[in-house]
Amino acid sequence: MAVAQVIIDIPAQQTNRPFDYEIPEDLAALVVPGVRVLVPFGRAGHLRQGFIWCVVANSDFQGKLKPVARVLDLDPVLNSEMLSLAEWLAQETFSFLISCLQTMLPSALRANYQRRFQLRTALAADDPLKALLDRDDGGLIPDNISTELLAEIKRLEQNDQLTIDYQISQKTKIKQEKIFSGQLSSAKYQEIRQTTRSNAKQQLLLLDFLSSQQSFSGNTTTWLAKVTDLKMSTLSQAVKKGWLKVTTAEVYRQPLTAVRATEPKRLMPEQQDAFNAIVDQMDQGNATTFLLEGVTGSGKTEVYLDAMQHALTAGKTALMLVPEISLTPQMVERVQGRFPGKVAVLHSGLSGGERYDEWRRIERGEAQVVVGARSAAFAPLTNIGIMILDEEHESSYKQEDMPRYHARDVLLKRAETYHCPVILGSATPSLESRARAQKGLYQLLRLTKRPNTIQMPQVNIVDMRQVEKVAGKSDLSLQLVEQLRLRLQRHEQSVLLLNRRGYANFILCRDCGNVIKCPNCDISLTLHRDSHSLKCHYCGHQEAVPTECPQCHSQNIRSYGSGTQKVEREIQELLPTVRILRMDVDTTARKGGHERIIKQFGAHQADILLGTQMVAKGLDFPDVTLVGVINADTSLSLPDFRASERTFQLLTQVSGRAGRADKQGEVFIQTYNPENYAVQLAAAQNYEAFYQKEMGIRHQGGYPPYYYTILISVNHRQEDQAVQKIYQIQNWLQPQLSDAAIVLGPTARMITRINNQYYYQLIIKYKSEPRLLKALQTLIIKMQSKTNQGFQLRVDREPLQFM
Ligand code: ADP
Ligand code: ZN
Ligand code: ZN
Repeated sequence: MAVAQVIIDIPAQQTNRPFDYEIPEDLAALVVPGVRVLVPFGRAGHLRQGFIWCVVANSDFQGKLKPVARVLDLDPVLNSEMLSLAEWLAQETFSFLISCLQTMLPSALRANYQRRFQLRTALAADDPLKALLDRDDGGLIPDNISTELLAEIKRLEQNDQLTIDYQISQKTKIKQEKIFSGQLSSAKYQEIRQTTRSNAKQQLLLLDFLSSQQSFSGNTTTWLAKVTDLKMSTLSQAVKKGWLKVTTAEVYRQPLTAVRATEPKRLMPEQQDAFNAIVDQMDQGNATTFLLEGVTGSGKTEVYLDAMQHALTAGKTALMLVPEISLTPQMVERVQGRFPGKVAVLHSGLSGGERYDEWRRIERGEAQVVVGARSAAFAPLTNIGIMILDEEHESSYKQEDMPRYHARDVLLKRAETYHCPVILGSATPSLESRARAQKGLYQLLRLTKRPNTIQMPQVNIVDMRQVEKVAGKSDLSLQLVEQLRLRLQRHEQSVLLLNRRGYANFILCRDCGNVIKCPNCDISLTLHRDSHSLKCHYCGHQEAVPTECPQCHSQNIRSYGSGTQKVEREIQELLPTVRILRMDVDTTARKGGHERIIKQFGAHQADILLGTQMVAKGLDFPDVTLVGVINADTSLSLPDFRASERTFQLLTQVSGRAGRADKQGEVFIQTYNPENYAVQLAAAQNYEAFYQKEMGIRHQGGYPPYYYTILISVNHRQEDQAVQKIYQIQNWLQPQLSDAAIVLGPTARMITRINNQYYYQLIIKYKSEPRLLKALQTLIIKMQSKTNQGFQLRVDREPLQFM
């Protein structure tokens, strides 16, 4: 009898392998790799969800195998490409296989485990569990149950006074709707009509219609649209009377609204050359990686669209990733406009149901083009003809939690399966990608001009050390305010960027110097004026703004720093008639928040779009002629070797928002470091010079792309424990490395304490360490042992965040 090998959905080292199960005869045809099953697991034999990994002839397991309890899917939810991709991903990122499998699927397909208790004897009158029973979902043990209550449940269970059940439910259901169809003949309907009372207006209305079109069928909306004045209740009554029959049909929750179809543009010569190179490789079936380096507004997107069209014409599919889709609704619209009805979107802004339905449309081949954020790298497309990673330098393509993958690596891996080209596109490619193009691993394509008459913006650096500032408003130079005023007079629009990375609005006591900090983390709390509260951006802690200093009780406490709200107020005071739209974490928290703001700005309902990093990305508004950067410097001073690269990218990207149509754009960058090369070269929009300069610095410092990096971090509730452990790890690891490897640290992480956990870390820089990966696998296994309880280990390959 065949044996099923199942990956159980418990993300832990002990369960990070397939478990053998017997396949009952009646399930034999259904148990194939990639389907979800329920299997009894653990000593208590509670059902857990799992994935069939493979089916084998025999088991090495000595005891009697338990049988698979249920098969959840008629067809596999993961095909063989996805299963081997998961295996690769798990190895590559030091992750549990189950975490990789889950990452590839919409959360709707994950199991929801519920624990309930059932009483066998009555509870004592004062038993604290009574509170749980009185709730609507009586007996449900909530995930966030207090330890006292949990202990009480355990006690009663041991006394046989209650039992605990485990239930599994799916998170999201397939959405169904009612379809009403006529089922009698015209003659029959006419006959009924004659015996119907003349004051039964609604029924007569329906019968008149049915007499003429008895086979009409559709959902409520189509009926009500077809038969004027018909009421919904009449349809249900007609079913009861046997005039209509009702069936249910599956419907998709569709997140996209229809947009106007667009025609391809006539490509400019550089665009045409790039396009030719790409489709040539596509036609030959080569998994070539292209780096499309094109200045902002040079028409990279038009090249993507034409390449996707070429794939569709050849009967293939296309996958395009964008950094954070909710920030780039314009991009989605452009893709949709070119491929009406063929596009599915996948991103975190969708509801669980919408995501599931988009996933199914892709999986069934009903959508041939997918646009999505990072996780859409796993979109269940088959027969892929082209894959695109737009703004390839963006750090949001790297996932910070397990599995810590980079979407770029996933696309390149999938390209091997489908023998298709990948386009990495950016005005400011990451140094890693640009260096690979230099070595010939990627093929470099360049777009150096904007199409037609559109000019690159003129960029001015404003030296904040020299310049006159608006009285009392230390954030704004007179020059920038004058430019804003000018745009207001000309009815043109402006975009203002407040560079918030590593910068926030905090509260400081002017008497004792105390800064109000989060009680759980080593970080100051950020002032949010809308809600009059202080929030921790790391653990979510929130408190009211104090009226006096908690340390010295002075009332002389003030806010410092520059938040978007503060800048908004300042500008409003200086230019009372100006209409400002603010785009930051506060105004975009609600679903669709970004999109609403972008639409309003596009419809000219505001003169200024003021925001954080979010305003730098991918927006294309014809009337924006001014871009102002309020503080270019804040991201320069971060203790991260990529600080210059990030600053250069941000300044170049945001400058690119100016002058997109036929109007000349101007950019003003306020800075205290006007001679800094990242600021200078961003102002000159000179990526190549920046690349050369920065590569020199990376070479000297021994940083990527000259070295690979791995970050090893350990955290624990007690600081001394975390310190001890990281030294232990270093001592164990060092002898396994060659002399060429460089170990930085151990050091405390910049923000050492988050959520009352202390973080210590090591960074390994290396060029070639054949034994390193094996050693790290061993380390991960060692850290799971009983003696290491309370520690968390994190191994991050090519980390993008060092803080
Ligand atoms: P990028 O993706 O490089 O930022 P876009 O593709 O958004 O550039 O192009 C910038 C602007 O130029 C857009 O408004 C686009 O419609 C226009 N454009 C791009 N290619 C052409 C072309 N070949 N002819 C005319 N206009 C073009
Ligand atoms: Zn004080
Ligand atoms: Zn906190």
